[in-house]
Parts: sequence; C-alpha cells; structure tokens
Amino acid sequence: MELVVLSGKGGTGKTTIATALGELSRECTKVDCDVDAPNLSLFYKGTQLEKKSFFGGKKAFVNKEKCNECGMCTERCKFGAIKDGVVDIHKCEGCGVCKLVCPNDALFLKDYKNAEILAEKMKIGILTRAEMDIGSDGSGKLITALRRTAKEHSSDELIIIDGSPGIGCPVISSCTNSDYVLIVTEPTKSGISDLKRVYGVTDGFGIRSLVCINKYDINTKNTEEIKKYCQESEIEIIGLIPFDSTVNRAINELKPITEFKESIACKAIEDMWRIIKLKIKQEVK
Ligand code: SF4
Ligand code: SF4
Repeated sequence: MELVVLSGKGGTGKTTIATALGELSRECTKVDCDVDAPNLSLFYKGTQLEKKSFFGGKKAFVNKEKCNECGMCTERCKFGAIKDGVVDIHKCEGCGVCKLVCPNDALFLKDYKNAEILAEKMKIGILTRAEMDIGSDGSGKLITALRRTAKEHSSDELIIIDGSPGIGCPVISSCTNSDYVLIVTEPTKSGISDLKRVYGVTDGFGIRSLVCINKYDINTKNTEEIKKYCQESEIEIIGLIPFDSTVNRAINELKPITEFKESIACKAIEDMWRIIKLKIKQEVK
C-alpha cells in the first residue's frame, strides 16, 4: 500500500508525521518526494544501495567551430537563454527553437543531468531520495523516478511517501496511483485554505484522502471549521495531534518523535497509526 503524506505548504508537520509513521510501521519503504527541501533522510543513517544520475530534460549546446555568432538564436529564444553563441544552462528550457533557426547547424540538444537519485538501506526499510544539482528544481518526472526506484528495491507492504508541498506537478506525481493520501493540516486560516487546495487535487485524481489535524488544540474554532469541511466533503479525519513542545526538541535532536514515548503528540500519532494499520490490512486482503 502506498500512503502519501501531503500538506499545502512546508512547516505543518508533514515530515514529522511521515517519519513517525515509518518508525511505527517497523517495516516500510520511505520515499522523500519533497526534493527541493528533503528532510526525511536527516533522521536516518543508512547504507547506500544505489546512486544514479537523473536527466530531467534537454538543454541546448553550441558547436563553437560552426557558430559565426550571427545572433539568430538570440533573437528567437523566448527565454533569453542564448547570447553570443553561449547558452545559459539555468535559463534554457530545451525547447529546440534555436536549433531550428540556426543557419549553420551549430546547435544541438543533449540530455542534461539535474539530480542524483539515491536508494539507501535503513534500520527500518529502504529510503529513496534525490540530491538536486544547484539551480535545478523538482519535476514530476523526478518524483516518478524516485517512486519507481523505491519499488525496484523494496517488497515492503507499505510505502510511505513524504510528498512535495503545494499543488503543482510534483505533488500530482507524488500521489498519482497511490492508495491513500494523508493530508496534514493545522487550524489556521492558511492551513484550511491549503487543505482545500490539496483535497481539490487528490479528489480530482480520485485518490482516497484522509486528514490529520496537527496542533488541533491551538485554535478550536478553526479545528471545528476543518471538521465541518471534512464532514461535508466526506473526508475521514484519522488524527488529532495536540500541540507538544517535545516535537521541536525531537526536530532539533533529529530524532523521530516516536523516540519520546511520553510525548502527547507521539501518543496521538500512535492512535492514528492503529487506524492506518487497519486500512493496510483491508488493502492487502
Ligand atoms: S544561430 Fe547558430 S550560428 Fe548563429 S549565433 Fe546562434 S548558434 Fe551561432
Ligand atoms: S533550447 Fe530553447 S530555451 Fe534553450 S537556448 Fe534554445 S531556444 Fe533558448
């Protein structure tokens, strides 16, 4: 079963919860799809199983021997990515227009590496993650490659995906064809708005959604608003996690919150895990 943990933006406790669920499962594969700000691996020390280059698309290159600096490519490139026969790799979108207009056949497109994909063996299961090259950003193709790599290395019943923030292409790739999405939200106006946006994506793609309200007790009025929205939208709320300063301590010490057994947040995540476990059982029946 693939469970994707999502939130509309960073800082809502998504990685804390994904890490805790991974620990409680005792046997699962983890995929860090938050490629622009990968934090999941910080909590673990693993042994490398595989490291491979990821080529996210093509870029233009100039054959200097053929280029007479006529400037036609500069004139036609809509991205301002080529000047005086030199391509700015960070601006080039690989559209190929320059190649088409070059009168001297001096331009060619080539696959361009923008990340490394790593698979690592952890104390509990496998973790796959990406190391982005400077100036590159996450893409749906990279997220798909991370999920595929995880499946190549693992036969675990449960795969936990720490999803990308936002509602763009990487998020869609994080959750397409998954079994459940767990949307982590918080009782703030922006949290409620993000919840609705993320649910708009998951519902649109027909993926079953569950909700967890993190720090539910910091604003009971907003928590009630979230509950009402979930009830009307027929979304099951499976977790109510209270504010707990131990969570900050766990993050600072780079330890999963599950190592702090007396923490009230840990106990609430354990309650949520029991519900998820039942869902896993139903899925693998
Ligand atoms: S169009 Fe071709 S020949 Fe002209 S500047 Fe560009 S690369 Fe050089
Ligand atoms: S491939 Fe497209 S974006 Fe890149 S330099 Fe050529 S015209 Fe510009």
